[in-house]
Amino acid sequence: MVELAHAPQALEWDTPLYAQARAQLEHALPHAAISEHVAERLRYPERAVILTLPVRMDDGTVRSFPAYRVQHSSVLGPTKGGVRYDEGVNLGECAALAMWMTWKCALLRLPYGGAKGGVRCNPRTLSQAELSRLTRRFTSDLAPFIGPEIDVPAPDIATNEQTMAWMMDTYSAQKGYAVPEIVTGKPISIGGSVFRSEATGAGVVMVIERACERLGLSLPDLRFVVQGFGNVGGVAATELHELGAAVVGVADISGGVVDQGGLDVPALHEYVREHGSLEGFPARRLSNGQFLEVDCEVLVLAAREDQVTEANAGALNCHLVVEGANGPTSVAADAILADRKIPVLPDVLTNAGGVTVSYFEWVQDLSRLFWDRAEIRLRLAEKLADAFDRVWAVSEGDGISLRSAALIAGIRDVAAALEARGIYP
Ligand code: NAD
Repeated sequence: MVELAHAPQALEWDTPLYAQARAQLEHALPHAAISEHVAERLRYPERAVILTLPVRMDDGTVRSFPAYRVQHSSVLGPTKGGVRYDEGVNLGECAALAMWMTWKCALLRLPYGGAKGGVRCNPRTLSQAELSRLTRRFTSDLAPFIGPEIDVPAPDIATNEQTMAWMMDTYSAQKGYAVPEIVTGKPISIGGSVFRSEATGAGVVMVIERACERLGLSLPDLRFVVQGFGNVGGVAATELHELGAAVVGVADISGGVVDQGGLDVPALHEYVREHGSLEGFPARRLSNGQFLEVDCEVLVLAAREDQVTEANAGALNCHLVVEGANGPTSVAADAILADRKIPVLPDVLTNAGGVTVSYFEWVQDLSRLFWDRAEIRLRLAEKLADAFDRVWAVSEGDGISLRSAALIAGIRDVAAALEARGIYP
């Protein structure tokens, strides 16, 4: 039995989201059959960095921005995870997301552990010049703690290719030579990978196809509702449409668009390109609350966290829930869906296409040898199919949910590596 050295005092990252990640881990541990000393190591992040970034604003004043980077596990390799710019960023959120990244990377058999970071700010109120100075100072202050063999950042909420280009440039300027492998999700012109931007949405659909095979369903016969019409949901809707499935509803922040006869997905994209959102699209419109109750076979959640909760899980009219977003289904909703016999394809498996192609980007940068779109797509499909099959086998074998099975499959791989390496010294 391992003594908790700090008990019972709370640690700095003990927030509700971190408690949720910890609760999922504790729930999975009895099935994972790993030793207590290994479990104890995996309960906490290895390293958490808190910074205060002084940033000169366009009006000449200097503002201080709290910033964080949490690295959960370096057992399997460098840590990997996004950087988000959001007013809600805190140490506990980063710690929880870093832990989930560890399980996701291990499940996909990527030689990485999990990390997550961010800056507490409202990115919509900052100019491009201010965002550039903020990003460059963050990268510079973080430089001793990141690196291609240490920790490799990527985009997340409100960060993008441009943010990664600034990070890559700042890190490279300090080194004195170009280091494209310091971040993933970069522009292709500086070592980014083709297919990275579509990878998450396309991966979601690859997982759906695999699930349909297992469940004896024919994808073109199914009606899909997709919540979120951005990077993940927009690409997923297109892929589904191209495979001949009926996309009967899509929604963005402005609300839902529904047509049980099937929506013209390319026309929706065209409209969003022109108008910025689905607002005003000429079709039957629903509020975001009503939208999740639209009759369909498959509901794809690709907007954000906490969408299906205790309050609405009983009202869903679908046979399968697919998590393209991170954490869209609450713990209470999971239980209600299980009672209703509605399976959930969990986020750690279903949206892992993004980090998998990030891994391909890092490998290409390290080897200075670049692959084409067809090769990346094929390798991604193989990785996701392999992970899916292992999750399915654990779920059937242990009689547990696909979510628990995905976490257990990831935890077991990290634990096996930690068991082999041992606790230093
Ligand atoms: P995005 O900003 O490109 O798109 C989000 C979409 O959701 C937008 O269309 C937005 O209008 C819509 N939306 C927001 N709130 C909504 C609501 N309440 N109801 C309906 N629609 C709403 O973001 P993204 O990159 O597509 O990410 C979506 C989710 O997927 C996030 O949870 C993110 O963490 C996760 N994810 C993204 C990636 C990736 O590679 N982009 C990888 C893994 C996980």
